[in-house]
Amino acid sequence: MEFNIAVLGGDGIGPEVTDQGVRVLEAVGRAFGHTFNLSYGDIGGISIDKHGTPLTDETIGLLDSNDAVLFGAVGGPKWDSPDAKVRPEIGLLDMRAHMGVFANIRPVKVYSQLVESSVLKPDIVTGVDLVVVRELTGGLYYAEPRGRRETPNGIVAEDTMRYTEGEIERVVRVGFELARGRRKKLASVDKANVLECSRLWRTVATRLAAEYPDVELEHVLVDACAMQLIQRPIDYDVIVAENTFGDILSDEASMLAASMGLLPSASLAGVPVAGMRSGGLYEPIHGTAPDIAGKGIANPTGSILSVALMVRYSLGLTEEGAAIELAVDQVLGQNVRTADIVTEGTQQVSTVEMGDRVVAAIEQGS
Ligand code: NAD
Repeated sequence: MEFNIAVLGGDGIGPEVTDQGVRVLEAVGRAFGHTFNLSYGDIGGISIDKHGTPLTDETIGLLDSNDAVLFGAVGGPKWDSPDAKVRPEIGLLDMRAHMGVFANIRPVKVYSQLVESSVLKPDIVTGVDLVVVRELTGGLYYAEPRGRRETPNGIVAEDTMRYTEGEIERVVRVGFELARGRRKKLASVDKANVLECSRLWRTVATRLAAEYPDVELEHVLVDACAMQLIQRPIDYDVIVAENTFGDILSDEASMLAASMGLLPSASLAGVPVAGMRSGGLYEPIHGTAPDIAGKGIANPTGSILSVALMVRYSLGLTEEGAAIELAVDQVLGQNVRTADIVTEGTQQVSTVEMGDRVVAAIEQGS
C-alpha cells in the first residue's frame, strides 16, 4: 500500500529523534511492502527563524494533504524571551486546533527490562501498562475570555474553563473504546466536588457508560488520581481527563517509565476503532531537550513508538505497529540503552545507533 506522511521535526532534539522514527517507518515499508511518501516541513522556532511565523501556510498545507503527521517537538531558550511577539508553542497549539485532534492518547508501559531504572520502586512500577487520554482542544488552554487587564485594584489575569457536552462525549468515548480493547477499566478524572465543568463531565461519562456495559467505569477526583498514580499505578488501565488535568497527569504517569524519552503519543480527530484510517498527529511526549540537543544522545524510542501508533491508528496497519513495538522490546532485551536509561552492565548507544538496532530487529523479524 502507499501512504503520504508529513514529517515536522521542529526544534532541539525534535529532528534527531524524528529521523530515527522515519528510518523505522521506512524499514517497516521494506519489510511489509508499503511505500511511504514523505513531505518535510518547518514548525516552531525554526519556522520563526526562517519565515517569521511558527506555522506557515505551506506547513498547514502539509497537515491537510497527508494521511498522518509525524512531529518532533518545538521550543527552546532562543525563542523564550517574555517579550517575544511570536512563540514556537503557538505553532503546536495552532496545528492541533487546525487538525481538530481532540484526543491525545499516551500509553505508558513499563518495560520489565527497565524497572530498575525508574525513579519509583520496582515493586510499584512492575507490570504497569496504562493509557492516559487527554482532551486536547478545549478547556482552559483554548476557551475565551482569557488575558490580562489593568483594573483600579491592580492587574487581573483570567482564563476560562468551558466544555460543551459534545466535546466531553467524544473524548470520553475514545476512553471507552480503548478500554474495551484492553482490560476494560476506565477511570474518568474530574473535580466534580468543585467545578461545574467537571460535574457535566461526570454526567456525560455516566450516561455513556450505558453504551459500554462491558467496561467498568470509575470516577476519580483529580487529586486522588495524582496520588494513586504513584501509589498503585498498576490498578489503572485507561484514564480519561480534560485538557489541564490530562496534561499534568500524563506527565506524572510518564515518570513511572524510566525516561520521558521512551514514551509516544497519538492525537486523533476521531474515535480509534480497529482498522480505522483517519488523519492524526504523532509525537514523542518529551520536549526539545535543549540540554542534550545536538549531542547525538537523545533517546529516539518515543518517536519510534509514535510511528507504531501512527501506522496502527492512521494507516490501519495493525501487524506493522506490533512489529515495531516488538522490535523495541527486543532491542531493550539485548541490553542496549541510550544515555538516559543506561545502567551498569548495559551497552550505551547513540541516538542513531538505537535507530540502527530497531531497524535491524524489524529486518530480522521480517
Ligand atoms: P523536555 O522534555 O525537553 O526535557 C526534560 C528533561 O528530559 C531534560 O533533562 C531532557 O534532557 C530529558 N529528555 C527529554 N527527552 C529526552 C530524550 N528523548 N532522550 C533523553 N532525554 C530526554 O522538557 P523541558 O526541558 O521542560 O522543555 C524544553 C523545551 O521543550 C521548552 O522550550 C518547552 O517549551 C519545549 N517543550 C515542547 C513540547 C512539544 O513540542 N510537544 C513539549 C514539552 C516541552
